[in-house]
Parts: sequence; C-alpha cells; structure tokens
Amino acid sequence: MNRKKLISIVVPFFNEGGNVKFFQASIGSLIETLPDFDFEIVCVDDGSQDNTLQNLVSIASTDQQFKIIELSRNFGKEAALTAGIDHASGDAVIPIDADLQDPPELIEQMLTEWQKGYEVVLARRVDRSSDSYLKRRTAELFYKFHNRLSHVKIPENVGDFRLMDRKVVEAVKLLPEQQRFMKGLFAWVGYSTTTVDYVRSARVAGDSKFSGWKLWNFALEGITSFSSAPLKLWTYLGGVGAALSLIYASYIIFRTLIYGVDLPGYASILVAVLFVGSLQLMSIGMLGEYVGRIYIESKRRPVYLIRNTYSKKYIETPTKNSLGRV
Ligand code: UDP
Ligand code: MG
Repeated sequence: MNRKKLISIVVPFFNEGGNVKFFQASIGSLIETLPDFDFEIVCVDDGSQDNTLQNLVSIASTDQQFKIIELSRNFGKEAALTAGIDHASGDAVIPIDADLQDPPELIEQMLTEWQKGYEVVLARRVDRSSDSYLKRRTAELFYKFHNRLSHVKIPENVGDFRLMDRKVVEAVKLLPEQQRFMKGLFAWVGYSTTTVDYVRSARVAGDSKFSGWKLWNFALEGITSFSSAPLKLWTYLGGVGAALSLIYASYIIFRTLIYGVDLPGYASILVAVLFVGSLQLMSIGMLGEYVGRIYIESKRRPVYLIRNTYSKKYIETPTKNSLGRV
C-alpha cells in the first residue's frame, strides 16, 4: 500500500493567545474529514508577549501532529513563515493565518486540485468585505502598481494562504534573500498554478497586527524587492526636465535678443528651484530605499533565530538554539 501523503500546515502566531483553541478545534475537525492524508501542524511563535506559546506547547504535549517553533523574538510574519516552511517536511505545504481568516475548510478543495497535478493552488479572496474599505482600496492599488512595475506579477487578492507542492517549497528555499516578501517569492518561482475562491471572514479574536504604516512599508518592500523601475524613473524625469529647460533657455535668449533684459521673474525662479529641489530630494530618498536594502542584505544575517522547538516526542528535551538559514 502507498504511504499516505503528508500535508504540512504552517501557521505564524503573534499574540494570538485567544485564537489558539479555536484554531486547534477548526484544524482538528478538518483533519477528521480527510483520513487519506497525514498532517503535521507547524506552529511558529513569532515572539508573542501573551500566552500563545504556553497554549501551543500544551497542545503539542498531547497531540503529536503539532510541532512548535519558538523564535527568539518577533521577527515579523514573513520571517515566521520562512521558519515554518523551512521546518515543514510534508509532500505539500499550506501556510495559513492563525486567526482563521483563511478558512481551513478550503484545504480539502486545494488537495483535490493538487492531486490533479497542479503544483501551486492559490486561494483567492472573492469577497474581502471583512477588511476595511481603506485596506481593500489600498491593497488593490498596490497590486496594480506593483504588477505594472515588476516583471513578476503577484496575483491579485491572493495572500499567503495557498498549497505548494514539495518541489515548489524546495524552490522557495533556494531563494537566499534576507528580506522576504513572501507573496513575491512565491510568485517568482512559478510552477503550474490554479486558483480556488473563498470569502474572507473576520478575525475570530484579537486585532490585526498590521497597521497602516506597517502595510505601507510592506508595500514598499514588495516593490523595491521585485522592481528597479522606481530607480530608472529619475533618468527619464531628469531627461524631460533637461529638455524643457533647454527649450525655455532658448526662448529666454531669443526674447532677450529681441526685447532686451528685464528683471521680473522672482516667483517663477523660486517655484522652479523649489520644484527641482524637491524632485532631487525624492530621487535621493528613492535611492536610499534601495541602498538601505542592499545594506541590510549585505550583512547576511539569518532571517530568524529559534529559541526552542517543541513536539510531543521532544517536549521533555527541547532542542538547543539553532539558526535559520545562514
Ligand atoms: N503575524 C506574525 N508576526 C507578526 C505579525 C503577524 O506571525 O509580526 C501573524 C499573525 O499572528 C497571523 C498572521 O500573521 O497569524 C496574519 O496577521 P494579521 O491577521 O494581523 O494580518 P491581517 O489578516 O490583518 O492582514
Ligand atoms: Mg488576519
């Protein structure tokens, strides 16, 4: 008889103490409906300050399907996901949010598509009314802008919730960057892809960990990680500006030759100086974004640090410190 396929569910947890029980119940009832597969649940505690870790460890002490990875501090969702994916051993890996905004029931459909031979099954949000109007609009703008600038197209309304075949996971693990915009990395590797649709529900408990400012930085990271168009923009803007100045200069020369010199023009000079000055500041800022990223990247620091791992087998003898991808 063939070995059952192992499915790894990877879940980042950051201050989700109130969600752990709901999550366990919901995943537990899903697993019961899918007896043809084996499951492992890789939970990454991303430096939570509340009782998330205790709750997770107490589950892992009785349920051997749960593996807990405790990071040494809060590294952010992207790093937590990377840690989970690195430690997942399944034939397919499914990252999912801890707050049950990604419905586990969809996993059954994903597995069906996977068995048809697709290597990536994306879960697309067809209705995001649980997110605020502003978040939906800005997300939409981000996808439009990003996909226009970058060669790697990120599918719209698709988060990290997806199924990836082992092949795809190994490909993602080959990407060495420290700044991990996971949606972009997942899109970059390619492979044969299909989509299933779902309605995004509201969080079960707790609040979103992504404020407007965090999301803005996240969007910047996405764009600067996958496109150098913002750098090139200034060459063209500079070119257009220079051409316009030349035209204007020749106009002034002719006018002076014909009508003589006159002094007025203080306002227009000031406007021109301020305008060009701020353009220059913006372009330097844009350079700074990239240089900053090169700086961070060049330090080659690990993406995450693990404080402990827990699973039923090892719960009495937790492993020692270990580094994530060095
Ligand atoms: N998360 C994390 N580290 C962080 C922030 C968030 O591991 O620094 C996890 C969080 O626990 C949740 C998932 O990432 O499982 C998505 O976070 P959230 O629900 O706050 O994002 P939203 O759904 O609002 O986009
Ligand atoms: Mg959420």
